[in-house]
Amino acid sequence: MRNKALEFAGRMLAERLNRDGSDWQGAVQPCSCGAPARYAGRSAKTFSTLLGPLALRRAYYHCRRCAKGFFPRDASLGLAHSSLSPGVLRVTGLTAALVSFAESSLLLAELAGVRLDAKRVERAAEALGEQIDAAERSGGEVFATQPPSAPTMYLGIDGTGVPVRSSETAGRAGKQADGSAKTREAKLVTAWTAEARHPKTGRPQRDPGSVSYCGAIESAASRDTDAAPSAFAQRVRREAERRGFPQAQRRVVLGDGALWIWSLCQEMFPGAIQIVDLWHAHEWLWDVSKELHAGHEAAIEAWAEARCEELDSGRFDAVLAALRSAGDCKKAGECVRYMERNRDRMRYADFRAAGLCVGSGVVESACKSIVGMRLKRSGMRWTVDGANAILGLRCCTQSDRYEDFWAHRSVAT
Ligand SMILES: [Zn+2]
Repeated sequence: MRNKALEFAGRMLAERLNRDGSDWQGAVQPCSCGAPARYAGRSAKTFSTLLGPLALRRAYYHCRRCAKGFFPRDASLGLAHSSLSPGVLRVTGLTAALVSFAESSLLLAELAGVRLDAKRVERAAEALGEQIDAAERSGGEVFATQPPSAPTMYLGIDGTGVPVRSSETAGRAGKQADGSAKTREAKLVTAWTAEARHPKTGRPQRDPGSVSYCGAIESAASRDTDAAPSAFAQRVRREAERRGFPQAQRRVVLGDGALWIWSLCQEMFPGAIQIVDLWHAHEWLWDVSKELHAGHEAAIEAWAEARCEELDSGRFDAVLAALRSAGDCKKAGECVRYMERNRDRMRYADFRAAGLCVGSGVVESACKSIVGMRLKRSGMRWTVDGANAILGLRCCTQSDRYEDFWAHRSVAT
């Protein structure tokens, strides 16, 4: 019944549009190059729409100087340069943000009756992702800048490797045995609030619906001689501004302890409180314990839990003392340096007393859910441009901004 109803509606719409000759606007129309384009009859094309395939006969204007032409109706219906209607493009973008191109193709056929093979889904989704990325870079025009939604605003920054084609890693140092790389690092900035409190522990919890993401495979490196901040630093600033982070009463930045994150934030948000995500700090202690007590599960657990407890309750020197007495354990030495470097960012007891969220793995899980679940599935090998387009698309849908993008896009056409 649904298929019949859609087919009927599609036929009605096509007939109505084909009867309406108002897209003929005289014998001559100005081309975008300035030269006159002459009317050259009607031309038929079949578009993929949510009502099924639609065969439209549209007025065509040809410009001799450009040796090509245009269809006024395509532009007015948002169909220029594509055989997919905006409706089809919108659902295609949504599925491709969530699942692989092959799975998208399956969902589109089953749920929307739209037949697009995986390759066409990929092309359409990547083109859309590039438009979204361009809209995101353009500043507050498409994605509105909001005032801070709570007195304390949080930013988390992290990176994770995305598997890429070998052509994308040529000449780059990596972690493979021969020194080559198989991945490129996608960097992600996450913004959220945590006014909610856990019913039992009373600790700050991430507010549902408050999380937004923005990320790409791009450089965060900057030298003192650079005139502009790195591409990723600019991205962090844009996301922070969209969320009203700079205006918040209290600003908190969480990171995994990597130096580039702190230097980036020191420069951009000098007064913000810097915190090493507790999840990462605990992970370090567990890794040391695994090396120290290799093979002894109970000992691993006892030592790691004791250190984590010391760290959480503000006994930083006790943790350092335990690490230093760990003999020639290499990991322990690295951990000492890590903790000394980040000492002020690991005052967890103080932070908690001040009602701050010290990291529940929000940052870590953002990398997993935004990048990992879509871009790091088995067999996937991305180009940097392809990965960035899908990452832009996914950040947009998962930040609840897809509607904003389409509202703006339809106004523009
Ligand atoms: Zn022209």
